[in-house]
Amino acid sequence: MCEGIIITNEAKKHLTNNDAIPLSLFEYPTTSGISLVLPDNIYVNAQFSGKYARSPIILDYKNDYFLNFNNEITPVKIIPLPDYFNKKDTDGNLYTNFIMSHTDRMRINPIWGCYFTCKYCDFNKERYKKIPFVKLKEAIDVALADKNIQPKHLLISGGTPKPEDRDFLDSIYEQVTKYLLQKNITTDIMLAPRKEKDLLKKLKSWGVNSLSINLEIYQEELAKKFNPEKAKISREFYFQFIKDAVMIFGISKVRSILIIGLEPISETLKGVEEIAKLGSDIVLSPFMSSENIALAHIKPPTEQDLIEVYEKSKIITDKYGVTIGPRCIPCQHNTLAFPNNSSEYFFS
Ligand code: SF4
Repeated sequence: MCEGIIITNEAKKHLTNNDAIPLSLFEYPTTSGISLVLPDNIYVNAQFSGKYARSPIILDYKNDYFLNFNNEITPVKIIPLPDYFNKKDTDGNLYTNFIMSHTDRMRINPIWGCYFTCKYCDFNKERYKKIPFVKLKEAIDVALADKNIQPKHLLISGGTPKPEDRDFLDSIYEQVTKYLLQKNITTDIMLAPRKEKDLLKKLKSWGVNSLSINLEIYQEELAKKFNPEKAKISREFYFQFIKDAVMIFGISKVRSILIIGLEPISETLKGVEEIAKLGSDIVLSPFMSSENIALAHIKPPTEQDLIEVYEKSKIITDKYGVTIGPRCIPCQHNTLAFPNNSSEYFFS
């Protein structure tokens, strides 16, 4: 995951339809690669460029796609880009300015750009703007009708709004969730904790399916460095908000990302324990380097680090009756999670 793949010319020729389409669209570091499906429904977003994409794993094509790792061959399926990737709306905007589909999920960013300045993210470099519902709805309709990817659910992701734009964002949460419920599509929301009383109850009453409340860095001194605005919210308030969310949405409907590779493993594991204790799932997100982020010089974690964090986290989450998420199997493509044939994991 962290070191990516090498793509042969033959595979590239087929993936790009002889250079007619790009290999991928660069957006977040964690979604900038190609989505692969390995045997046993293991979904992986594999990077193929950048200075840390240097894995010995080769993606090749001969009648079909396969991975070659030291001559060990693994068949692999490729999830294509959505067909709308280069299409424009009536105002001449690319639909991908408003929506993106990966595996079985659409993602919208009603706040384009971000009020926060997390150093491992490039989205805060975008010019901050609000995307009106009418544009989001048009893009959602296009994504739902896409012939390459049929989305089963929607994620409303960051950026985080300026305080004066919270009402705008809440109205988008409500309108989008209710609009999609008419089409039997569920909406999940990624948000930072907020103090407004009743926010969580309102989200639940609008029909929001689940929440992702991402602490990302556990160690407070490092959090001040890497995600200063989240550090200012405070770890205690994150935990209180997650606890309240679990009370309102229930176990399995709340999760929190921790990034592997930006703090000592022992600190990440303390974070896993504190969050699991609250009844929230954990999402382990390996740090992905990218030229566009402030932390471009930091190497991604090693395979050994990932194995250690995964195995120790599994013991902790089992102890508290929660899961290493996300529970939706195709959404695991950019996280450290594996379906294990249990009912914990599912296709949305
Ligand atoms: S809050 Fe989210 S979108 Fe904003 S900078 Fe941090 S990681 Fe990026």
